[in-house]
Amino acid sequence: MSSLRIIIQACLLTAGFLSSAASAQYSLDSKVELRFDRFYDYQEMSEVLHGLVEAYPDLLTIESIGESVGGRELWLLTLNNAETGPDTAKPAMFIDGNIHGNEVQGAETVLYSIWYLTKSYGEVEKITKLVDSRAFYFLPMANPDGRDIWFSTPGSLRGGIKPTDNDYDGLYDEDGPDDIDGDGQIARMYKEDPRGRYQRDPEDDRFFVRVGREDPPGGWTMLGSEGIDNDGDGQVNEDGPGGYDPNRNWPSDWQPNHIQYGAGDYPFSLPETRAVGEFLLAHPNTAAFQSYHNAGGMILRGPAASYIEYPRSDNRVFEQIQKTGVEMMPFYRAYITREDMYTVHGGEKGWAYEGLGIVGFTNELWTSRRMYGKDERLTAEERTKFRDLLQFEAVYVPYHEVEHPTYGNIVVGGTKKWSGRVPPPWMLEEECHRNFAFTMYHADQMPKTEWGALQVKSIDTGLWEVTIEVTNDRLIPTITEMARQKRIGARDSMLCTTSDEARVVASGTVQSFMPGSKLNAVESKQPWRVWNGSGIGSRSSRLFRFIIEGEGEIQLEYRCQKGGTIRHSVDLAQSGLSAIEDDKSL
Ligand SMILES: [Zn+2]
Repeated sequence: MSSLRIIIQACLLTAGFLSSAASAQYSLDSKVELRFDRFYDYQEMSEVLHGLVEAYPDLLTIESIGESVGGRELWLLTLNNAETGPDTAKPAMFIDGNIHGNEVQGAETVLYSIWYLTKSYGEVEKITKLVDSRAFYFLPMANPDGRDIWFSTPGSLRGGIKPTDNDYDGLYDEDGPDDIDGDGQIARMYKEDPRGRYQRDPEDDRFFVRVGREDPPGGWTMLGSEGIDNDGDGQVNEDGPGGYDPNRNWPSDWQPNHIQYGAGDYPFSLPETRAVGEFLLAHPNTAAFQSYHNAGGMILRGPAASYIEYPRSDNRVFEQIQKTGVEMMPFYRAYITREDMYTVHGGEKGWAYEGLGIVGFTNELWTSRRMYGKDERLTAEERTKFRDLLQFEAVYVPYHEVEHPTYGNIVVGGTKKWSGRVPPPWMLEEECHRNFAFTMYHADQMPKTEWGALQVKSIDTGLWEVTIEVTNDRLIPTITEMARQKRIGARDSMLCTTSDEARVVASGTVQSFMPGSKLNAVESKQPWRVWNGSGIGSRSSRLFRFIIEGEGEIQLEYRCQKGGTIRHSVDLAQSGLSAIEDDKSL
């Protein structure tokens, strides 16, 4: 805590000097200057999030949506300009990070997004417009216990810390990795063994390599991660902390543990996933989803199992957003989880789309392809050279002898946990920015309903025909085809409210403004409302028509859960075809 205060205070102290030179700067100053060449542990992250909310109270609010197994708060920030309406009335994007405890830079990427949006608001027109018309829900640390293990222990945990009996012996978390030599690292263990299948790398004796299948033994056996046999059952590290996967605990295509390792007892059995589930169910205005993981340099879309099919029209939306994404993020690939990776049952992004009808992606941050800016797989030698020349060999634990209680004299060493999954600190900021920018592009593609053309015609004495167009020029439809097929969420609706001197006698949709265009009348006792179960499609529009008897002003309102509500009033005395300029978006 104190170290962070010092950083913030140091920034404040220099702020006077900086502001006088501000005109010479390209980057925008934030009220909370943060560095993105470092990582933030749970406590620090919690503090800077609160600091941002304090600094930008007109845009940010913070709440804890629940507690982790370990009692840590699940901090969720809402970014919304209340002056343009409540968040729940706007299309919103949900963005989380670090659901896998050891995939830490996801949280920095979410933090960066909040930081960049708040400092740019009112300064950068495109961002100001985006923030004024959309809401954002940020959950930087979806698995704070797993994050804490990474920062405060030598260990590394994909899941969380709910005690789990991984080896079916009736005991929970009784035998995890141990830092035998007390150097703050969980490294690899090797022991000399005439029959061992490993040898010291003849090219570079800092490493061990496996000998070929046909080759004679290499003289060393690999004993896995650093640890001892804590429970005396003859096995080492077979039941460490936790041992489940929070990204397999979601309801869509959930499968029990014997089919999907790490699934948990039932969907939402973990407090962390349940809290997110309840939040998203309570926010049906959420129209886009993004989760930040590591590693590999990928933008992943579903489906995550071979027997799940996504409708073609939705697939096109996924593909087009991904296509722009890989242009924005060199060295990233646009992948489908099932086809290019592996099967996942009960994953988070699967539930977002299959369960809630939300278009969403998982980004796997950091790829070694960025090491030399070469868009191809690197050899082990190239990776080593990067660590030697650009990281000054600081990511190695040199192999050294250790006395092991079970194995006797062994050697311990290898790469540190920071060397594989996360970018070096000096490459972190660019990683955050590119992913953030891609996610903002996605946010900008959330549905945006607007009024198109309007035609008011007198068809008889005191009888009017009002035809109105509702457009959505964004990629994401107001109702995804998946949502339509599964009847997820509310249907869109077009409402016409009249004065007491008038009433709607018939209504429906029409194909065009052409004179002969027939009304597809909807048989209803409430003709003042036209339900639209298929929504407004991707870059598309629909025409609605009301036949009104009487006179006066009418109010038109188009409501949709994921595209906002728009209103317009029309004086029946005016007639003709016009475009609506003065639309009021809520
Ligand atoms: Zn992950």
